Amino acid sequence: MDILKHLKNLRNELKKYAYEYYTLDQPSVEDAYYDQLYKELETLEAKHPELSIPADSPTQRVGGVMLDGFKKVVHEIPLYSLADVFNKEEIIAFDKRVQKTLGNAIEYLCELKIDGLSISLKYIDGKLVQAATRGNGTVGENITENVKTIKSVPLMLSEAVTVEIRGEAYMPKNAFTNLNEKRIEEGEEAFANPRNAAAGSLRQLDTKVTANRNLSAFFYNIAQVSNFSVFSQEEVLALLKKWHLKVNQQLRKCHSVEEIWSYIKEVQDMRDSLSYEIDGIVIKVNSFTQQKELGFTVKAPRWAMAYKFPPEKVKTVIKSVEWTIGRTGVVTPTANLQPVKVSGSTVSRATLHNVDYIAAKDFRLNDTVVLYKAGDIIPRVAKVLLKKRPKGSIPLIIPTVCPVCSSKLVHLEEEVALRCINPQCPAQMKTGLIHFVSRDAMNIAGLGLRIIEQLFEKKLVKDVADLYALNIKCLLTLDNIKEKSATNLYQAIQASKVNSLERLLYGLGIRHVGNKIAKILAKHFKNMDGVIKATSAEIAEIDSLGKAVVNSLKSYFAKIEVQELIAKLKNQDINMCYLGSQKQNLVLNNSFFAGKTVVLTGKLTPNRSTVKEKLEKFKAKVTGNVSKKTDLVIAGSDAGSKLAKAKQLGIEIWNEKRLKVEINKD
Ligand code: NAD
Repeated sequence: MDILKHLKNLRNELKKYAYEYYTLDQPSVEDAYYDQLYKELETLEAKHPELSIPADSPTQRVGGVMLDGFKKVVHEIPLYSLADVFNKEEIIAFDKRVQKTLGNAIEYLCELKIDGLSISLKYIDGKLVQAATRGNGTVGENITENVKTIKSVPLMLSEAVTVEIRGEAYMPKNAFTNLNEKRIEEGEEAFANPRNAAAGSLRQLDTKVTANRNLSAFFYNIAQVSNFSVFSQEEVLALLKKWHLKVNQQLRKCHSVEEIWSYIKEVQDMRDSLSYEIDGIVIKVNSFTQQKELGFTVKAPRWAMAYKFPPEKVKTVIKSVEWTIGRTGVVTPTANLQPVKVSGSTVSRATLHNVDYIAAKDFRLNDTVVLYKAGDIIPRVAKVLLKKRPKGSIPLIIPTVCPVCSSKLVHLEEEVALRCINPQCPAQMKTGLIHFVSRDAMNIAGLGLRIIEQLFEKKLVKDVADLYALNIKCLLTLDNIKEKSATNLYQAIQASKVNSLERLLYGLGIRHVGNKIAKILAKHFKNMDGVIKATSAEIAEIDSLGKAVVNSLKSYFAKIEVQELIAKLKNQDINMCYLGSQKQNLVLNNSFFAGKTVVLTGKLTPNRSTVKEKLEKFKAKVTGNVSKKTDLVIAGSDAGSKLAKAKQLGIEIWNEKRLKVEINKD
C-alpha cells in the first residue's frame, strides 16, 4: 500500500482508539493492540524522515480531548506522557542513550507504574484549591470537587506551601471488582480495567457518584520543583510524604540494567498481592541536574521510561456455557473452561458478558480461546483461535426463555443484557433473598446460601415475607441444623423485624435503590406508605435522586405482587418506619459484632481497653485467649502469639483500619 495512505490509516485508527480510551473511558481494543499499532506508526515515521509528521499525529501529542461540561484548566507546566519499553533490550537501549549524554554511573529511581490517570493538584498556602486531569497535557478538565471526595487526598497539607503536585488517581482492585459486578447486574457495560473505571469515576458531573467509587491516589511529582530545596526524585517523594501526601513506598534505587531487571521480576512476583493495579514500572534518572541535561521530547521526558508488563495470555477450551439469573433478572452467560493458570491463579470460569459479546466474538462450544485477566483481575475470554475450531461446530444457542422459570426473555431498552422479567422467577427470588438478609440490608446472621437453597427446595419460603413465618420446628427440618443454630437463626430473623425502614427498602432490591438512596428515602418520607404514595415530582424534588430512581420506584410499587408482598410483611409486624435516632440501639444489637467472640492482640489505639469497651457496646464478647470458639481477632501492631494461633486455626483476622471501617459503618 502507498506509504502515505498507510500512515493516514494508522493515525486515524489510533485517534479513534485514543478518543474511546481517554475521552469516553470505554476502549474497544486491548492496550497491547493499541501499543502495537503505535509502535508501527512510530517506526514508520522514523523510517521516512522525508515525510513531515503532522502536529496532530498520535506520536506528537499527549492523551485525550476534554469532555463537555467540565471547565478547562490550563497547565502552566505541562503534564507529560512516558515513552514505553516492553523488554530488556529496550531498557538496555534506553540506558545506552542516557549514558551517551551523561557518561556512566547513572542512578535510576524505579517506581511502580500505577494504573490510573494523572491528576494535577494546586495547593495555595497548603490548601487544596484546584484539581485537574492531564487532558492533552497543556489543557485538562477541572475536577476539583470530584477529587475532594477522595479520602486519601489531603485538603490541607502539613505545611502552608503553594505548589502544584502531580500524581495518579486509581481505583483499588476490590472497588473495581465490586463496581463491575454491580454494573453487570444492572445491565450496564463493565469497565475494561481499573484505569478506565477510575477515569470514568472522576470525570462525573455528579460528584456523589465519584464519592461512591472509593478512589484513591498516589503522588510522585512537583511541578515547580525549583522552588524547593530538592535535587532528586527521591527527595521529591520524601517531601511529598512530609506534606502528608500518599506516596508509594515500593521503590528501588538501581545502578544498572541488571538491577532494574531484577526489580521488575520482584514486582511482577508480588503484583497479585497489591491492593491496586499496576501496569509496569517507571524508570527515572534520579538526579535533577541530570534530568535537565536530558530534557524532553514533544511528548515525554528523555530521562524516564515506562516498562509495561506483557499481558499474560493463555489458551484454554470452552467446555460449556451456563446462563445464570441475577437478582434483577439479568441473564449472564458464563463459560466453564478447562482449568488453566493465568496471572497467579487457576481459572475455570469466565464471564462471556452478554449476547452481543458472544455474537461479536463468535464463541462456540469446544472452541480453543485466548484467556487473560483484564486489569490483571478479571478473567476475560479475548478471542477464538479459529484454526483450532472443531469441524461441524455451530454457533452457541442463545436462550429465548429463562433457564430457570421458562418465561420469555427480553431486551430492555438501551440494554445489552437479556433479562427475565418474571418477578416470581425462583432464581431471582433466591438471589433476592440472599440480598434481603445481607449485612447492609436486614442483616440476618447465619442465613447463608446453603440454608436459603434448602428453604426453597423444601418450599418453606417463596418470598422474603415467608422468612418471618418460620419457626424453630421448621428450621430443624433442614440438613445439619441442630437445636442451638435453629434457635439462633430464629432469633436473628425475629430481631430483624425492628430494623429501621432503610434496611427494608434496600433489602427489597429495587433497581437503582442502593443502601445510600434507601437511607435518603427513609429519612425523607419517614415510613413505607410515604415512599409508596410519593408522587414522581415529590421524589424528584429530593436533591440527590435522579430520574432513574424515580422511575424505578414508581414502576416497582405499581406492581400488584409488590403490593401483596408489602401487605404480607406488614402482617408479619415488620417495622415500616424510619427510626432515626432510636436507630442507634438497634444498630448496636444488629451489628456485625453482636454475639461474636472477639480477641484483641497487639497495640491498639488509643488502647485495648477502650477498643474492648467499644466492641462490648456493639454486643461482642471480648475474651483474652484465642481458641476454636473465637470468631474474630483484631491485631494491632506488634501482635505476637495470639495472632500466630489465630492464623493457625484459620480464624478471621482484622487490622485496626478494617475495624474502624466496620465500627463507623452505620
Ligand atoms: P501511560 O499511561 O502509558 O504512561 C504515562 C502515565 O503513567 C503518566 O502520565 C502517569 O499518569 C502514569 N504514571 C503512573 N505511575 C507513575 C509514576 N510512578 N511516575 C510517573 N508517571 C506515572 O501513558 P498514557 O499516554 O497515559 O497512555 C498510553 C497508554 O494508554 C498506551 O500505552 C496504551 O496502553 C493505553 N491506551 C490504550 C488505548 C486503547 O484503545 N486500548 C488507547 C489509547 C491509549
